[in-house]
Amino acid sequence: MASSSTHQVPSLIRCQLMTLLKNMGGSEPRLVKAATEQLNKLPFYHSFWNHTTRPSLDLAKELISMFTAREMGKVFFTNSGSEANDSQVKIVWYYNNALGRPKKKNIISRTQSYHGTTFISASLSGLPTLHQDFDLPGRFVLHTDCPHYWRFHLPGETEEEFATRLADNLENLILKQGPETIAAFIAEPVIGAGGVILPPKTYFEKIQAVVKKYDILFIVDEVITGFGRLGTMFGSDLYNIKPDLVSLAKALSSAYAPIGAILVSPEISDVIHSHSNKLGTFAHGFTYSGHPVSCAVALEALKIYRERDIPGHVTHVAQRFQEGIKAFAAGSPIVGETRGVGLLIATEFTDNKSPYELFPFEWGVGEIFGQECKKRGMMVKVLGNLIAMSPPLIITREEIDKLVSIYGEALKATEERVAELKSK
Ligand code: PMP
Repeated sequence: MASSSTHQVPSLIRCQLMTLLKNMGGSEPRLVKAATEQLNKLPFYHSFWNHTTRPSLDLAKELISMFTAREMGKVFFTNSGSEANDSQVKIVWYYNNALGRPKKKNIISRTQSYHGTTFISASLSGLPTLHQDFDLPGRFVLHTDCPHYWRFHLPGETEEEFATRLADNLENLILKQGPETIAAFIAEPVIGAGGVILPPKTYFEKIQAVVKKYDILFIVDEVITGFGRLGTMFGSDLYNIKPDLVSLAKALSSAYAPIGAILVSPEISDVIHSHSNKLGTFAHGFTYSGHPVSCAVALEALKIYRERDIPGHVTHVAQRFQEGIKAFAAGSPIVGETRGVGLLIATEFTDNKSPYELFPFEWGVGEIFGQECKKRGMMVKVLGNLIAMSPPLIITREEIDKLVSIYGEALKATEERVAELKSK
């Protein structure tokens, strides 16, 4: 993408994980225009009982043509990523009931994953804070290993061997529970809110083979990785994932309007369609599913992603972003690991570059770094002793240089503060 076609990122370079949804930055006039025009034309009509609106139909077609990792058949709209994942599980259950497999209902997810905060999506998530005192997870969820190589590999174990061990563990879990009870496996291509955890080499290849062997559906949660964040249009393209179901949200409208979506494979949608015909209806949906204003904004966002080749732009600037940050982190005594892909990166603060020598939580090393960034006009996402950055996808090379230099300054200041805390 030519840098002349990029838009200015506001002076405060927003890198928070939450703001990654604003792929097009905060001042894209085409998205404002698309919303205004739709508000003037038809602000709302629902999508129940065979009704819908033109923007929702057009968006569904566009999404199906954009997702090329495998053929998709139908699209179901929601208002958020949580609702998308919630709906995924209901669709999977409905599908297995339609096939006369009432026992095939459990869903396997991974520890440290994030899939949302509704009852079902928080249950799928593998973060203890989302469960504790909420009486979660629900009993239909089984959690398998988090693919965090740096933290969990055994001494001398290669990435490939680690991936094999995790795939074996998954298979053993399925066999222990009984394959006839496992309906689906859900995964983010890169775990986002759980700490930017990249799949080790060969991981998805091996996991997909196991899932396929036992007739288990693969749900890919592309809420963070969809629409260019990793330098490909979808995370599934990067990691060769061939899912049966896809969850989308956030960048779908570049956060200018709330919307989520599920892509459903033709095999599943055909079964659902004929079963719902027998029952008289597919009784699932939300008042604002396929809201015409959100759909009009999303359609325009998708057009921009394609026209400006946003994945190509991300690939173009990502090397500078990743290498710049990793160079500072490599020389720092307080950084255990920095990992990332595309315009997504995390820094984990530990002592002596060891995954096991954690700084005391009460020192708030991540928070100190976050404050040092803020003082210099940059926001990062603090997750305990880990920070994550995900700038808008239209960021320029010059802005990346500024971002990297602020990172370096904030790191130096944090090192000094940690040295003080250690000496006490
Ligand atoms: N899945 C993933 C991978 C996410 O990162 C998130 C939100 N951070 C969700 C689902 C939930 O989306 P929402 O907050 O829109 O409900």
